[in-house]
Amino acid sequence: MIVAIDGPAGSGKTTIAKLLSKRLNVSYLDTGATYRALTLKALSDGINLSDASLLAQLAANLNLKLEGQKVYLDDRDVSEQIRTPLIDKNISIIVAYPEVRSVMVSLQRAVAKGKDFVVEGRDITTVVFPNAEFKFYLDADAAIRAERRFKELEAKGIKIDFTETEKDLNKRDNADKKREVGALTLSPDATYIDTTKMSIEEVIEAMFTHIKNRKNNK
Ligand code: C5P
Repeated sequence: MIVAIDGPAGSGKTTIAKLLSKRLNVSYLDTGATYRALTLKALSDGINLSDASLLAQLAANLNLKLEGQKVYLDDRDVSEQIRTPLIDKNISIIVAYPEVRSVMVSLQRAVAKGKDFVVEGRDITTVVFPNAEFKFYLDADAAIRAERRFKELEAKGIKIDFTETEKDLNKRDNADKKREVGALTLSPDATYIDTTKMSIEEVIEAMFTHIKNRKNNK
């Protein structure tokens, strides 16, 4: 069983996908983390971000391990390092290249192949797992999403002002929606949930109930 979750940054996808996977007792894949690790690798290796074929090669040779919530790059725990404003600022360039996406999509499919997974990202319901048993699209007002992201960075002790967080998030949103391949779109068969006024628990409950009801009606 694949539960696919798409939605913009700050919609609560990552937190909710993690908790929902626990509730369903299945594994969890954060595809954003795979693109974040690739971005970190490219920046660390000083790769020219306009060289799409070199980046695709880097993606194909990525030494990446995902263990539960932890992300290891070249056997080093980079779980925190991939979630900094530096990665946020550079990631949109890399994830827009079709040749990079094609390598990463294969990697993501291989991780979840034949298993039960909650998978979250931007193109999961449309490109990576178009035949997923369950599809959700999580959304929230832009101001709330920026506030969530700001609080997340603040909690980690990362100093950044709110206006900059909001600007970065809007930029990423636009890039995610406009790119030619793997753009963020609402799949017509996905269940849309606006999380603006909902608590995390309420969102999980709604998703869990939807899954349970559909399974019982089969
Ligand atoms: O979900 P998260 O914010 O960690 O994703 C980081 C970035 O990776 C997003 O802004 C998006 O550009 C990109 N991404 C993507 N496709 C995915 C997951 C993430 O392009 N499936």
